[in-house]
Amino acid sequence: MLALLILYAFNSMSQKKQVIEFSEFKQKVASGEIKRVQLGRDYYVGVTYSRKDFQNQEGSSYSDLNQAQGQTVYRAIPVEDRSFVELMDKQGVEYYARATTAGDFLSNLIFAWILPFGVIMLLWWFLFTKFRGGMGIMSVGKNKAQLMMEGDTGVTFDDVAGAEESKEELVEVVDFLQKPEKYEAVGGKIPKGVLLVGPPGTGKTLLAKAVAGEAGVPFFKISGSDFVELFVGVGASRVRDLFKQAREKAPCIVFIDELDAIGKSRANGLGNNDEREQTLNQLLVEMDGFDGWTGVIILAATNRPEVLDPALMRPGRFDRQVLVDRPDLKGREQILKVHAKNVKLGDQVDLNKVAKSTAGFAGADLANLVNEAALLAVRAGRGHVAQEDFGEALEKLIAGLQKKSRVINPKEKEVVAYHETGHALVAAFTDGADPVQKISIVPRGMGALGYTMQLPTEDRFLVTEQELLGKIDVLLGGRAAEQLIFGEISNGASNDISRATEIARKMIAEYGMSEKFRNMALGTQRTSYLGGESGFGVREYSEETQRYIDEQISANINTRYAHVLEFLKNNLTLLHDVSRRLLKVEVMEAEEFEKMVAQHKELAEAPQQN
Ligand code: ADP
Ligand code: MG
Ligand code: ZN
Repeated sequence: MLALLILYAFNSMSQKKQVIEFSEFKQKVASGEIKRVQLGRDYYVGVTYSRKDFQNQEGSSYSDLNQAQGQTVYRAIPVEDRSFVELMDKQGVEYYARATTAGDFLSNLIFAWILPFGVIMLLWWFLFTKFRGGMGIMSVGKNKAQLMMEGDTGVTFDDVAGAEESKEELVEVVDFLQKPEKYEAVGGKIPKGVLLVGPPGTGKTLLAKAVAGEAGVPFFKISGSDFVELFVGVGASRVRDLFKQAREKAPCIVFIDELDAIGKSRANGLGNNDEREQTLNQLLVEMDGFDGWTGVIILAATNRPEVLDPALMRPGRFDRQVLVDRPDLKGREQILKVHAKNVKLGDQVDLNKVAKSTAGFAGADLANLVNEAALLAVRAGRGHVAQEDFGEALEKLIAGLQKKSRVINPKEKEVVAYHETGHALVAAFTDGADPVQKISIVPRGMGALGYTMQLPTEDRFLVTEQELLGKIDVLLGGRAAEQLIFGEISNGASNDISRATEIARKMIAEYGMSEKFRNMALGTQRTSYLGGESGFGVREYSEETQRYIDEQISANINTRYAHVLEFLKNNLTLLHDVSRRLLKVEVMEAEEFEKMVAQHKELAEAPQQN
């Protein structure tokens, strides 16, 4: 623009120049005053001479009519107006567009190219010095993978407890890394990639380290989330670099933690992530680029195998999967033992008992539990960890920190006591229900006013129809007790209600336990077109069936509720006795509860099963 003005300043002295509004410009075209128009991007320039007038002028050597002497030059900033060209046609006005002139080219160069480019360069420089710790541009893509040499992992299979099956599968990998010639002699295929699959905290990372530790080979660890970097292309170059290093150090283990961070299915998701895709592609290329005999074995871990790109699972890639699941009772005891080695245990501590009360805990939870118990022992001023420390640590982990300061009013407390006793009594009288371990009306964190802790006597995978009904009964017991004693119900049972409903729904829709659709699954299916995680549930059955399901759920729950109410009515004395006692002591252990129940048992009737 600046250049344009300068250009005009050089123009002939005898020209009159005027900047006018577009409306005026248009009028001058309509009136015939403007005979020739140059349609520029920024300005329209109108002159009062046409080409003919110009040719009539003497000494007509101007290359640009706009510089012709004796005419008026109007300039206007154009307004988008399609009819303008029509108007010029009608008036016989000459019009033309102008290509970028030298001046425009120069200003374009400065404003559109050099300036932004400079700004970008500056930004890059900033980013690199700031985020890369001043390492400079040249070190982008240099690997962050830590190289841990033999002994550095310091982990052996003994450190991983209760994962016998997973370990067995990995023993072969260790063996191969130690004696590759043994396998080479016989031939056959060597696993190239092994995928460890399991819930968080089950010891996948630990297992990978143990494999390296047992084999005594270098261990390269990198996390999938490390690859998801700021700049496109960095991840891919990192993968390349990682494998280059690994090949130099073979035999060795490359461990990719959180594989799902890069290995998400490429088909999934609307917003593509170029960086992740490039990284994944590079990983596939690298894995295809060597055979098992190179001595590099790739271990990877994920807790979301379902989102992984199927290409990762093809033969020659992660074709072997090892399930690392939550430990069973025996496994939990072993894991507790491993971690208890680091603390001083009291003589009477029974880790088997602790293991029994931690069904569903992963290894990391158990490690946490031991640590928490040790901290509590220190706080209590003991020199060793006692059984009660485990008990308290467990409660802490399960129900959040004890909130001793929380005040609840006496009426609320009474309601909670009857509610919890309701659960406990139904559990005590239902065949196959998990025995009650503890009833508490001490408020805990996260809004739980009380709880009834039931413990499974054994790890169970199969649950019968009868037992499922029993579970619903126990869940409804709390609210039923409230209704029976206080004649009204509270919102305190909302969690119970939703869990009971869920069981009832699953029985009908998933387990085929309804009358009409006996042995039929009416499950929902997830579509994947919005990405596996956030798919919409799609009903695979008719509206009518949906109505049937809803009606059945409600009918079943009503039947169970009436049944539980009836049972509590028949055991009213016991309900009162236990609840009053609970109000006094706040926490009742299994022994005392069972004693009270046994004393009343002859008077009580077991709930009818159906
Ligand atoms: P994941 O990688 O599966 O999420 P980790 O291997 O990171 O789990 O486990 C975290 C911690 O939990 C470990 O460092 C270890 O202290 C403990 N842990 C988990 N599983 C076990 C196990 N089977 N035996 C002993 N400790 C375990
Ligand atoms: Mg891990
Ligand atoms: Zn409840």
